[in-house]
Amino acid sequence: MSVRAGIVVTGTEVLTGRVSDRNGPWLSEQLLALGADPIAIAVVGDRPQDILRALRFLASEGCSLIATSGGLGPTADDLTAAVVGEFQGREMVLDEPLQARIAVILAPLMSRWPDLDPEAILISNRKQAVIPAGAEILEPVGTAPGLVVTPLAGGGPTVVVLPGPPRELQPMWTAALRDSEQLRAALAGAAEYRRDMLRLYGIPESEIAATLRAAQDAGVELERLEITTCLRRGEVEVVTRYEPAAAPVYDAFAQLVRERHARTLFSDDGTTVDEQVFGLLRADGARPVQTIAAAESCTGGLLSARLTERPGSSDAVRGGLVVYSDEAKVKLAGVDPALIEHVGAVSEEVAAALADGARAALDADVGVGITGIAGPGGGTAEKPVGLVWLAVSHGDGRRLTRSVNLPGSRADIRDRSTTVALHLIRRLLLG
Ligand code: ATP
Ligand code: MG
Repeated sequence: MSVRAGIVVTGTEVLTGRVSDRNGPWLSEQLLALGADPIAIAVVGDRPQDILRALRFLASEGCSLIATSGGLGPTADDLTAAVVGEFQGREMVLDEPLQARIAVILAPLMSRWPDLDPEAILISNRKQAVIPAGAEILEPVGTAPGLVVTPLAGGGPTVVVLPGPPRELQPMWTAALRDSEQLRAALAGAAEYRRDMLRLYGIPESEIAATLRAAQDAGVELERLEITTCLRRGEVEVVTRYEPAAAPVYDAFAQLVRERHARTLFSDDGTTVDEQVFGLLRADGARPVQTIAAAESCTGGLLSARLTERPGSSDAVRGGLVVYSDEAKVKLAGVDPALIEHVGAVSEEVAAALADGARAALDADVGVGITGIAGPGGGTAEKPVGLVWLAVSHGDGRRLTRSVNLPGSRADIRDRSTTVALHLIRRLLLG
């Protein structure tokens, strides 16, 4: 038995793609972690009929919990509370104590904007305090209160109404989980699930499909596992959700993947290649820190950005050179212009010279060089769009180079190149 849950994301700006949805996926992840089964995220504009239809659809699909995001503000297009009231058969009523609490929140805002019309603010203040009768109030993080609204007649889903701005929605959801009996009751039947992830690099998704068939043939009870595979940033992620009792089945499956894909499986504990490289660069008791520097052509600094995403990366990351033109490769990374003339900028030799040049220029232990053709123009029969040469070199003389032919758009090629580079760095650091 499990709790089916749905999400309604409101906002014409989200529906049209002007704002990309950060609430639906976040809530979905939260629900999954709680053992619920999120079945759909409905994104609708600020039209009451559409919000209502989305709620009815999710209810008809057997959801016992629905979370909504957005439409709680003071303006006339913020209608979610009223629609949820109608959906649950509850009248809208003014909650005077809530109105007073919102007024306290608004007071400092009013003094900061002395020109605002106090009358208009009072009207909107009042609007935000009009809630479905009997709803549980989630205290405002910004100015808008959230709500937990159960059906007056019973027998339908509990609806948690949350504000649109992610920085308000997230803490309010966490507070609601802690404080709201009704929300906890709606989640009470949630099963306990485990989730594990395997990450592979340098393997097509079809190979995983073959391994799944092999597992079936070997008698692994795959029907007790919910396995999803996806291709992301050039890696294959295999995410498996299962009930604790099925742990031996998962272990057998993971073991089979380890055996069949020993060379391409790089993570079985959820860690990303970024985290692994970060860990390998940092000092750890036995090993001193390994400093790193990159000279990037076609990626224009994207690798350096990725290397510096984590707090604490300053321990290891020395810096990076963006060497887009041949002149920059020569001036900043010390590449011999005759070499570029002779073999071309996109070549194994120049990638290696960039890695060495970055190391020398920034006095790092590890150097990375990336040079390629991101397109869409500039390809030739010999050096097509998507050809990227990468090199990683170490002060102790070790060096790895490789070329790849990456598919996709310019953005894909640039992004994928950083993944290839991270795997090359990982291999060098593992020795
Ligand atoms: P407000 O009081 O700010 O109006 P609200 O609850 O009415 O809050 P919305 O009007 O729906 O929320 O959204 C306010 C802003 O929050 C949006 O303009 C957008 O910037 C951000 N936002 C809303 N929904 C999302 C979402 N799903 N993902 C990311 N950002 C969002
Ligand atoms: Mg709004």
